[in-house]
Amino acid sequence: MGGRPMFILSEDTERTQGRDAQSSNISAGKAVSEAVRTTLGPRGMDKMLVTDTGDVTITNDGATILNTMDIEHPAAQMIVEVAEAQEDEVGDGTTTAAVLAGELLSKAESLLDDDVHPTTIVEGYAAARDIALDAIDGLVREEELTDDLLRQVAESSMTGKGTGDVTTDKLADEVVRAIRHVEDEAGVSRDEVRVHTRTGGSSSATELVPGVISDAEPLHDNMPLEVADATIAVIDEKFGVRETEIDAEYSVESVEQLTAAMDAEDRELREYADALAEAGVDVVVSTDSIDDRPAAYLADAGILAFESVDDDEAAAIASATGASRTSKVADIEDADLGAAETVRVRTFGDDDLAFVEGGQAAETVTMLVRGGTEHVVDELERALSDALDVVTAALDSGGVVAGAGATEIVVADRVREEAASIQGRKQLAVEAFADAVDVLPRTLAENTGMDPIDGLVDLRAANEERAGRAGLIATGQHGEVGDPVEAGVLDPAAVKREAVESATEAATMIARIDDVIAAE
Ligand code: ADP
Ligand code: MG
Repeated sequence: MGGRPMFILSEDTERTQGRDAQSSNISAGKAVSEAVRTTLGPRGMDKMLVTDTGDVTITNDGATILNTMDIEHPAAQMIVEVAEAQEDEVGDGTTTAAVLAGELLSKAESLLDDDVHPTTIVEGYAAARDIALDAIDGLVREEELTDDLLRQVAESSMTGKGTGDVTTDKLADEVVRAIRHVEDEAGVSRDEVRVHTRTGGSSSATELVPGVISDAEPLHDNMPLEVADATIAVIDEKFGVRETEIDAEYSVESVEQLTAAMDAEDRELREYADALAEAGVDVVVSTDSIDDRPAAYLADAGILAFESVDDDEAAAIASATGASRTSKVADIEDADLGAAETVRVRTFGDDDLAFVEGGQAAETVTMLVRGGTEHVVDELERALSDALDVVTAALDSGGVVAGAGATEIVVADRVREEAASIQGRKQLAVEAFADAVDVLPRTLAENTGMDPIDGLVDLRAANEERAGRAGLIATGQHGEVGDPVEAGVLDPAAVKREAVESATEAATMIARIDDVIAAE
């Protein structure tokens, strides 16, 4: 072969191999998890994120932070995906998952330094993950999931999320009411709970509405602002003069011809209101625009109409009222119409909101969220959505466990214990996994202002006495070792399970890579 090197990649390709590739990937992954570490727990700090166009987001939410950051490194991107998977699967615990993934990577790096083969690390982590999942299952609380208990779950997920301690219990109460409203034997229809935000007013003004809310304003001053026993049409058609298909030019030669042309146009514009009135419709929700003249005819017919309604809101109204979306008013049939107990317009500050309440087809409820500024309202919306998700997860995916690090400390200990019975170098990886789990209570201690080492030592000592019931409870400005169950700090077991699974998956995937080939 003459020993001449053969080039199979283009000159622009960047290639890193072996330990260099591993180190660079691991550092990137660690950096991402480090970025969210300080936000973990109720005393975690917030981050202000500014995009290149100057949009500002202030949040404590792991998934939001990672999504908003402009992360390019592919290995770092995998940690972002951990947070996204966590958000999709259970809706909370994104910071936990990202921090755990980062720590698993950090431990993997030390193992690689000690010449433990990546495959051994992967096997050890997988074994440890199974022990951890088993330990979590064993920690699921057996008491019934009462409203009181669920409120605590909701509150635990909201504390530290800018909801303000005073309003948190009121919000938690409404979260549980909302979820109970959409729960039946088959489980929770989480999608039937919507959150609608509106700036202005304090967050304690947040209320639960038995229906769908839309930002749309009534089209015409003469329309009714409240309709009881409403028959509703949800329409995706522009109300206006139809554009002629061919470019025809009329030359009008007489007044009669002009009047005839105008009459024809008028008839066409009147048809919308006529067809709808004939079908018995009192409320029209259109995702498209409605021109002034058809709007006036609708008002004449006593129909309340909304134009350019948000697609998502229109879909929710259709699903709640049992309407099918129609793209041709002229063909509307009875089967396309929905019904609701009331449709009414309420004024908030300078703007109106439309409320469609008591829909006949689904028990949709909406939490109307108020708050002083847009940033407050946005963070409140994220907090509520997490709280709704955790209550759903608790009810539908296997109960709750003690929070505040109590579960993690038992999991770490169990994994460490079982490591002893595992042969060879794989044992090192299992032990490393246990050490990695410790990062969660350690970070909670740090973020509550405790000394992380002392906090962890005290927690372990307390856990000796009351296994699974010792946590680092944040109270006021500091933290102390206490019983999370008594303090009402409870998390869904599903959040812990998913965090262990997704963090392990990402960390092992990154650790296994030893060759990065990047095209320019
Ligand atoms: P994540 O994105 O992982 O949900 P959070 O910032 O929401 O991160 O923090 C969740 C952690 O905070 C959980 O481990 C939970 O048990 C813990 N936690 C919640 N409330 C308290 C509290 N009052 N004291 C101590 N820990 C708490
Ligand atoms: Mg959370």
